[in-house]
Amino acid sequence: MNAAMRFDAIVIGAGAGGCHAAARLAAAGRRTLLIDDHDYLGGRAGTEIIDGHKVNMGAIALEPGGVFEETFALCGAPLEIREPNPATVFFLEGKVVNVQKGGLGLLLGGLTKHASRVLDQFAKARSGDLPDGRQSTEDWLKGYTKNETVHAIFRNLCAAIFAMNADEIPARAFLTYFTSKGAFKRFGFHPEGTMGAWQALADAVVRLGGEVWLSSPAEKIEVENGRAVAVRIRREGGEAVRVEADTIICNGGPKAVVTLAGEDHLSADYVRQTRDLLKPAANIVYNFASREDIMPAPGIMTFGKTRRLCNMANLTATCPELAPDGWHQYVAYAVPKPAIGDFESDAEVTLGLEDLREQFPGFDDKVKMLSVRVMRDDWPAQRSGAGYDMDRATGIDGLWCVGDAVKLYGNGGTQACAETAKVVVDKILSGTPAIVMG
Ligand SMILES: Cc1cc2nc3c(=O)[nH]c(=O)nc-3n(C[C@H](O)[C@H](O)[C@H](O)COP(=O)(O)OP(=O)(O)OC[C@H]3O[C@@H](n4cnc5c(N)ncnc54)[C@H](O)[C@@H]3O)c2cc1C
Repeated sequence: MNAAMRFDAIVIGAGAGGCHAAARLAAAGRRTLLIDDHDYLGGRAGTEIIDGHKVNMGAIALEPGGVFEETFALCGAPLEIREPNPATVFFLEGKVVNVQKGGLGLLLGGLTKHASRVLDQFAKARSGDLPDGRQSTEDWLKGYTKNETVHAIFRNLCAAIFAMNADEIPARAFLTYFTSKGAFKRFGFHPEGTMGAWQALADAVVRLGGEVWLSSPAEKIEVENGRAVAVRIRREGGEAVRVEADTIICNGGPKAVVTLAGEDHLSADYVRQTRDLLKPAANIVYNFASREDIMPAPGIMTFGKTRRLCNMANLTATCPELAPDGWHQYVAYAVPKPAIGDFESDAEVTLGLEDLREQFPGFDDKVKMLSVRVMRDDWPAQRSGAGYDMDRATGIDGLWCVGDAVKLYGNGGTQACAETAKVVVDKILSGTPAIVMG
């Protein structure tokens, strides 16, 4: 092994949380090393080229504003998010329902005479009166309406945003998200694919004096006297190098922390939580293209009654450069049942396809399928479903966790990952040790 190198901070993993954390540290003047074991940035939200199409593997919808955009401003990175208008519609029995102006109230009012009961609960939640964390969203909703279409819509909202079914996500987390988080009220797509956002942050890390190493797995986090002091990294597939740092952030999730640092250095409770608390949430992603425009809206459409399909995005309406000339490009998502338990992948993929065929007559003749991915287990839609997160502090001084297994309560997606990065970096900059939870 070569002589040790030294950085102020090492970020293991260049997913959403890792890129945001590295960019924030670099912006604060910390010389930062960002590494990833893949040969591309973005982790589960990377972008690949298939048949000339830029195809997103995970996230597509990025929220402007909030912590996400703040990181770009802090490190001087460009962020191009093209917002569709209308951003969101519902697709109920073959018809587009645009609720851009009237919101959920307008939608529910057209479906059930009990709409006001449900809306009252949102108002209560906004003032902090929330159900406890044990009741599921489905059970909570049943208390106010039995309308099947309303239940189908809520299931698909849960599935689209959290990759969980309505009987899996706590009502408390669902309502927290819709009443006090971004809730994708505004979002857009990146014209280079989501990868464009991660590339801009990685470029900023380098511009601010740091380094980015891809194809470079961390093999071990060295811990001495309760403090993380160095990372052993197989740099670009070559020799192992030992890199010392004051701060180490792991974006691979708490399970990766246990593997890399070793159980002996962590509390029994931390290790237990990685086994018992975390609940990876799954989804299925269908990327496809068509010569004719098959989607009657420019943004994201949420479906009503379906088997598994929850939503679908029209990517080229705002970002035509994602597809070769003459092609329209879409991505649709299905969420299996259960989403946070074991399921039969092939059968679930088929159910989502049956939904697509039902929603879009002639689907098979019209579309070219680019990819079908089942995101589950160690490579899931969310490393832990909302309401089942661990702390960002690991209990080992100098070692923190960011990403979607350590989200703040009731948040989801890349905005939530960015938020974990902000919370952790703020604590590092204020000198808080990683043995203090919160
Ligand atoms: C299909 C799908 C659609 C989604 N849609 C949206 C959406 O539209 N909008 C949205 O905001 N969110 C969406 N999400 C959620 C979002 O993509 C994820 O929450 C987010 O990308 C997770 O990022 P993360 O920070 O947890 O890092 P990850 O993506 O988990 O990245 C961590 C990286 O660390 C690497 N790593 C792990 N261990 C090591 C090691 N030892 N050495 C080096 N590297 C290591 C991993 O290989 C990985 O590359 C979607 C997710 C999926 C799957």
